Amino acid sequence: MHNQDVYDLTIIGGGPAGLYAAFYAGMREMKVKLIEGKDELGGFLLTYVDKTIWDVGGLPPMRCAKLIEHLVDQAGTFEPKVVLKQTVDTFNHLHDGVIALHTDTGDSHYTRTVIVAIGRGVAEVQKLDIHSAQDYERSNLHYTIQNLDYFAGKKVLISGGGNSAVDWALELAEQACSVTLVHRQDSFRAMEHNVSQMKKKVDVRTPCYIERFYGNGQRIHQVGITDSATGETIRLDVDEVIVSHGYTSHVSNLARCGLDMQEGMLVMNQLAETSVPGIFTAGDCATREGKVRLIAGAFNDAIVAVNSAKRFLEPNAAGMAYVSSHNELFREKNRAL
Ligand SMILES: Cc1cc2nc3c(=O)[nH]c(=O)nc-3n(C[C@H](O)[C@H](O)[C@H](O)COP(=O)(O)OP(=O)(O)OC[C@H]3O[C@@H](n4cnc5c(N)ncnc54)[C@H](O)[C@@H]3O)c2cc1C
Repeated sequence: MHNQDVYDLTIIGGGPAGLYAAFYAGMREMKVKLIEGKDELGGFLLTYVDKTIWDVGGLPPMRCAKLIEHLVDQAGTFEPKVVLKQTVDTFNHLHDGVIALHTDTGDSHYTRTVIVAIGRGVAEVQKLDIHSAQDYERSNLHYTIQNLDYFAGKKVLISGGGNSAVDWALELAEQACSVTLVHRQDSFRAMEHNVSQMKKKVDVRTPCYIERFYGNGQRIHQVGITDSATGETIRLDVDEVIVSHGYTSHVSNLARCGLDMQEGMLVMNQLAETSVPGIFTAGDCATREGKVRLIAGAFNDAIVAVNSAKRFLEPNAAGMAYVSSHNELFREKNRAL
């Protein structure tokens, strides 16, 4: 290990908490690395790119994809080192207070402090486990929606009973030729108001599930839908099939490295400290009284965690960064704007 390779701060997780921490740590002039398990930044937001976000302070309502773009741009302001496609599994302390982080690719990263911002873990979409489903993933079987307009004028079948399935059904009801939604149970895990709206606008079939696809190996033409109460199967003509069965999360082994956990989350105090010195936490993976599990809450945690990390390294450092309106670091950048 060369001294050059030791970072002041390494952030694990490239969701809103990790991205904002990368920006704020730049304001504190720290040498920063961010490690993300997936091949792109954005965190859980990547699972609802087409939704509109209203509740981030000071921002006009915008598509989540746009918000991700802004977050990633802002995170890059001070040019942190970004490592993608590596999941941090374990860590251990070396000499001189250096912490070694070890990833699933066999790589190690060296740092003096860490912010764990792993949210709900590395989320993988829950795929449909039926014959030939994989064949259609490149054509008309979708696990997420990037562009609602693509479905305009088409016969759409949606499977799922959570908020995303219901929201998509409602949105597509406005522009698709027809929308049928199937769900294994009669009850939904979604907002009541949206469910009752959906029942007015969409052909809802419960308790039903997708039994099989009929297609030519290139595209699905019909879907076999089975009623689990009667066992009867019918065939529906479709242009597009959307499956929204949620996500499985691979929560990291980090918890097994001596970090105190509560109900699967990392215990943090008011200073975003975990039970291990030098390791801080931010965002949805953390818990404390009054914790806010929203994007805005992740930003606040990130600031507190970065300030604590800074003072861990330099006990006499200021409690927080100079506000951006007075901060010398932005003098040149302000001229450019
Ligand atoms: C359907 C839905 C809609 C929502 N809508 C809103 C909304 O309108 N407004 C709002 O404020 N909030 C909303 N939220 C909540 C918001 O998404 C979360 O609060 C936010 O994503 C938390 O950010 P985070 O950075 O803590 O975690 P995440 O966004 O989960 O990001 C964590 C990142 O860490 C990575 N990671 C995990 N483990 C490792 C590891 N071991 N090594 C490396 N990388 C790792 C993951 O791949 C991921 O990229 C919504 C949530 C859902 C599910």
